[in-house]
Amino acid sequence: MGARITVVGSLNMDLVVRAPHLPVPGETIIGSDFRTIPGGKGANQAVAAARLGTQVTMIGRVGDDDFGRAQLRNLNELGVDTTHVIVDRETATGIALITLDANGQNTIVLASGANMCLTREDISVAQDVIVRSDVLVLQLESPLEVVTHAIDMAHAEGVKVILNPAPARPLPNETLAKLDYLIPNESETALLTGIEVADLDSAREATERLREKGVGTVILTLGARGAFLASVEESIHVPGYNVEVVDTTAAGDAFVGGFAVALAEDRDPIEAVRFANAAGALAVTKLGAQPSLPTRAEVEAFLENHGYEVSRR
Ligand code: ADP
Repeated sequence: MGARITVVGSLNMDLVVRAPHLPVPGETIIGSDFRTIPGGKGANQAVAAARLGTQVTMIGRVGDDDFGRAQLRNLNELGVDTTHVIVDRETATGIALITLDANGQNTIVLASGANMCLTREDISVAQDVIVRSDVLVLQLESPLEVVTHAIDMAHAEGVKVILNPAPARPLPNETLAKLDYLIPNESETALLTGIEVADLDSAREATERLREKGVGTVILTLGARGAFLASVEESIHVPGYNVEVVDTTAAGDAFVGGFAVALAEDRDPIEAVRFANAAGALAVTKLGAQPSLPTRAEVEAFLENHGYEVSRR
């Protein structure tokens, strides 16, 4: 039986429009290229893992509307099991209204909708799926008490837990202590520790701080510089890959999905970070969120063509 991953998190429809500049209050401007693109960190990470060839089950909520149906259709087409994505009759599917200007600046208004209606009960109903998983992956676009309930359940059953603390918010130490892996980026790390990550020394200090709060292994993603891993055994920088950047959207989601897959396949954490760095690097070479997520074959070919070095310091 292959590796299994369960993702608890958000499903949003991204409504994206291009505009010559970002509108000021009261201004109407003519935009173009309107698109509706399935997104949400939960769904993106589920798709990232599924494209890398793992069985993935998503737990979340969408509304009883066209965006919700489109999300479900998309996930099913990409091989994600949506049995535990509940259709909420009362609340609309989560959306993100995104305006992009000619310089690549954006504004985003997020309406979480059904995502914030996910309940502890929804998690309990999916208990069988969670306990049979190799890895549980979560983010913070769902109610915190639901996230912590799922973490408690997985932790009690010995399922490995990965939390991507995005969007960042303070977390109880009791929850941090149950995480096998915490994967924050630089800004999330700054919020959680008060340490601005400027270089490898501050990365080491910040990851140590998070480990002191009880997290098993901290993997701080560093954009083009790759990631910094701190575990009970070691603190180590795993460099990123040099690629041509087209669009960094969903790099973090590709990284988390890639790391989860490698971990579910029992690779050691440094090897898993290397795999995740390749998935993240490939994601930045293409436009968009889910469409840019690489397949297993793409990541393996990329790793064959790129050597890697790990600087132990
Ligand atoms: P987020 O997108 O959540 O802010 P990061 O910017 O740290 O997260 O990116 C996540 C991962 O994606 C990095 O750890 C790295 O593996 C990969 N990545 C991001 N940007 C680049 C880049 N410019 N070149 C190569 N890899 C990248």
